[in-house]
Amino acid sequence: MFDKVLIANRGEIALRIQRACRELGIATVAVHSTADENAMHVRLADESVCIGPPAATESYLNIPALITACEITGADAVHPGYGFLSENARFADILDDHNIAFIGPSADHIRTMGDKIEAKRTVAALGIPVVPGSEGGVSDPDEARAIAAGIGYPVLVKAASGGGGRGMKVAKTESDLEEAMQTASREAAAAFGDGTIYIEKFLGRPRHIEIQVLSDGKGNAVHLGERDCSLQRRHQKVWEEALSPALNSEQRETIGNTVAKAVAEMRYEGVGTVEFLYENGEFYFIEMNTRLQVEHPVTEMITGLDLVQEQIRVASGAELLYSQEDIVFSGHAIECRINAENAETFVPSPGTVVSLHQPGGLGVRVDSAIYQGYTVPPYYDSLIGKLIVFGKSRQECLMRLRRCLGEYVIEGIETTIPLFQRLVSDPDILNGDYDIHWLEEYLDN
Ligand code: ADP
Repeated sequence: MFDKVLIANRGEIALRIQRACRELGIATVAVHSTADENAMHVRLADESVCIGPPAATESYLNIPALITACEITGADAVHPGYGFLSENARFADILDDHNIAFIGPSADHIRTMGDKIEAKRTVAALGIPVVPGSEGGVSDPDEARAIAAGIGYPVLVKAASGGGGRGMKVAKTESDLEEAMQTASREAAAAFGDGTIYIEKFLGRPRHIEIQVLSDGKGNAVHLGERDCSLQRRHQKVWEEALSPALNSEQRETIGNTVAKAVAEMRYEGVGTVEFLYENGEFYFIEMNTRLQVEHPVTEMITGLDLVQEQIRVASGAELLYSQEDIVFSGHAIECRINAENAETFVPSPGTVVSLHQPGGLGVRVDSAIYQGYTVPPYYDSLIGKLIVFGKSRQECLMRLRRCLGEYVIEGIETTIPLFQRLVSDPDILNGDYDIHWLEEYLDN
């Protein structure tokens, strides 16, 4: 096991990882920018190192500063959290060169899954269902027309190195196709330095359902069920739940086992999430995230496993402690992402938290790094906390969530709590009847 883990992140996830380390008896090193000197993850760490000015490119993304911080403190492993360097294969390689463990999969797996065409090819070969489309990149308009005609319109033109919903264009008919290709390619070249595009069937009203896996790189893997993350705004998840109101246990077992078998065969190491669009009873792979996800707590609530501790164990070379029969799903969990933003305009609202009361009680978990008197800096993601609620049934979970949202007080900054207060009483939400477009349509009305 590791002696000392440096956590290359900030905010709630840095604290979350610290907690896992402390329970495992591992010392922690926090890193921070000058804007985060008074942050909770710094206050609670065993040691801390300032790695640069506020801009993330000069601090949380500054690889030389992070390596130096490891060397100064003698950290033998780095946990990247999510975002920042968590899916940066070069960072994993550089750590390896310095004999520091990267708590995550191999650089090769990060690289493969970071290229959407390569990822799709790899998982399809392992039996995971993918969206019908081109075999690889397409640049010739005639070839594109033939492929699109074969799968049927509408089609989606996507960038191989896309992310955050950029470099994606829908072509409703053949007459839109060439322009969609040009726009997507141009956008992708500008944003990612790679204009390679491919074509997929466009799914009209799917749900976003993702499978959580845990794998030890030695041929053992389990799936930890799914999360339904269909409630999104601008491709950002807002509300996540486990299990999905749309799946039955047979569907869960089938897709879960397919994914677990695939990652075991890949010799994938650590936690990972295989994301699907789900429509009319069929799953279509969209991408694999080779890291811990923001929404991992809902899975922890229904399985009782600490995903971060499992991730650290596997990274230190241990075999999985569980086989699939040991994984038992119980109850229902929902996570609301609380952002420092206006709940109607979504304009960020940094500033000082002058008063704070967080909900509690049975089945309630708040993952957050804010405190009374804390100033939310304007430089980073606006997520300031996650409210995760568990219930024996989905109905109990929703009732408890409504109670918690009524108790939650954050004053001094605006938050998205009022949005969740509305959502938790909406009939479609209560019925679990929503798809990936539901929230944007709701917000437009
Ligand atoms: P990114 O990496 O940019 O987030 P994804 O491939 O994960 O790209 O897709 C982002 C979102 O775009 C999905 O959550 C879904 O809303 C939409 N999307 C992607 N592929 C399709 C598709 N084939 N049909 C319909 N919508 C899609």
